[in-house]
Amino acid sequence: MNSLKNISLDGCKGMKDSFELGPIRPPSEAYSLLIRVTRNCPWNRCKFCRTYKGEKFQLRPVAEIKQDIRTAKAIQGNIKELAWKSGYGSRVKEIAGMVFNNPPSEAFHNVALWLYAGGESAFLQDANTLIMRTDELAEVIRFLKETFPSIKRITSYARSKTAGKKKLEELVELREAGLSRLHIGLESGYDPLLQYMDKGVTAAEHIIGGRRVVESGISLCEYVILGLGGSKMWREHAIETAKVLNEIAPDFIRVRTLTINNRMPLHNEVDNGNFIRAKDEEILEEERLLIERLECHSNYISDHITNLLQEIEGQLPQDKEKMLAVISRFQALPPKERANFRVGRRIGIYSRLDDLNDLRRREVVEQVMPKLSQGNNEIDEKTIYSLMRGFI
Ligand code: SF4
Repeated sequence: MNSLKNISLDGCKGMKDSFELGPIRPPSEAYSLLIRVTRNCPWNRCKFCRTYKGEKFQLRPVAEIKQDIRTAKAIQGNIKELAWKSGYGSRVKEIAGMVFNNPPSEAFHNVALWLYAGGESAFLQDANTLIMRTDELAEVIRFLKETFPSIKRITSYARSKTAGKKKLEELVELREAGLSRLHIGLESGYDPLLQYMDKGVTAAEHIIGGRRVVESGISLCEYVILGLGGSKMWREHAIETAKVLNEIAPDFIRVRTLTINNRMPLHNEVDNGNFIRAKDEEILEEERLLIERLECHSNYISDHITNLLQEIEGQLPQDKEKMLAVISRFQALPPKERANFRVGRRIGIYSRLDDLNDLRRREVVEQVMPKLSQGNNEIDEKTIYSLMRGFI
């Protein structure tokens, strides 16, 4: 048998090796097969979002999407063939691992990574797939399942407003076709903040859309942006967001922390002083208030590197005290330790509070701190914000 090092990827060359991919997917879909069913965002106005700015929304014809699915299938076939030719037989995972480290195209990388992870999930891109006609989206989902019988979970992004415009029967049709989960950007439940950020949806519309998804039996994940209220609206943001989530009771609540770069309209608001960013400590108070007010039975997940305390996770309501205790533990640290942890988090050295006890990691952070603070170990917020920009 060949060793992995000696296997040539020449067998991958010459085939149609590309299909269209959109720019993003949720962190939880990192190993999913990505199929782009629409392009960009039909709303595209949220001040805190940069992903599709300058790009025009387009629906893709079903025939074109199906052709992409067939190409993904052909790539899968080629990776399998390569495994047989290289003496790995049905051990496709090993070959897939080698291919995604050295792929001939982005699409090849995606298929190889998906195969490496077991080939069981797919994510439909881009920002609001539900905007497709229901019969067409159902046709795409059915075709995807027929083409890849190994796929057990199909998920996508959606907007609350669009979900609320679908009839319950339409969402049920999509679930029956194979749509397992929708990821919705709730961001906030506070109307003045939603309006300021130009989210294009009200708290009431979030509730209508979210509840309809839950009622249809499609699993629902709602995303909240910590820090979105800045230092002016953080309290209302937390309280009203909890209220909306309690009304919806999604399966998952996922949090990520506001990070701003110059491709976002919010960047100008910061520059002209209209938006004052919240500091880490304020954001933790906001998160405390949010968690305290949550009464729904949802899984609270912090799977984004922008979150200072990523270990605040659990099943609500039973894990609430445990989650709040993480915030208290951080707040009880001496100021120097808090500063050390914040820097360690923002340069990607620490993942949890216990890492403060890891001498090797600590040493790295202590070497970096003087460079970031011009020698006095006082880290200003601007430095933290600029480190965070590296995460998006
Ligand atoms: S709806 Fe989503 S993708 Fe579209 S602009 Fe807003 S945050 Fe961005």
